[in-house]
Amino acid sequence: MAFNTSTFVTSAPSLADCPPEDLPEVCFAGRSNVGKSSLINSLVNRKRLARTSNTPGKTQQMNYYNIDQKFYIVDLPGFGFAKVPEKERKRWGKDIKQYLYQRKTLNLILHLVDARHDPTRLDEDFFYWMASNRKPFSVVLTKSDKLSGNKLAASKQTVKKILEKMNIEAPIIVTSSDSGRGIKDLQSLILEFINY
Ligand code: GDP
Repeated sequence: MAFNTSTFVTSAPSLADCPPEDLPEVCFAGRSNVGKSSLINSLVNRKRLARTSNTPGKTQQMNYYNIDQKFYIVDLPGFGFAKVPEKERKRWGKDIKQYLYQRKTLNLILHLVDARHDPTRLDEDFFYWMASNRKPFSVVLTKSDKLSGNKLAASKQTVKKILEKMNIEAPIIVTSSDSGRGIKDLQSLILEFINY
């Protein structure tokens, strides 16, 4: 059984501070408040492994979690946090891009988008980097419990169209940390990419 034991490893401000490339890893990206910590906690079945509603200072680091001694989950700093100064926001782009482009053991990138909101310019920029990066990439719609079936379908369609326009082929997974929807699908996708 996967996702049994999860432990916090380190908070890395930049690529140079990341652990040795000794295990495959999957990273989670998305705007602040998108539901990233909640989703990570649901995946590993822990209440408070990743901190929910992080303070800005802590969100500026890449948080590494070791799962079953087999792979890492990497919680990337949430972007677009209003309280983070402009200078730090620019650094986000530089440090994270370097990580996404250069980390050899990064096997899968998950980009989270709140199902209730259309992807923002920043989300679209991120999709664009992914297209040029050529790493396996998937969009995860979060908080699906907050939408009706019709609205959820429309939201998925909007993301699909944006990806198509950019010629990006990526699965879109609908999830909710509250209802548990999509959690198993996401676990399966992760296991497939890290060759568990
Ligand atoms: P992060 O900043 O991306 O790590 O977001 P958090 O995980 O801290 O979640 C931000 C807010 O959204 C919190 O108030 C969570 O309780 C709420 N939230 C997260 N996931 C869900 C979900 O699946 N459904 C609902 N209804 N609320 C959620």
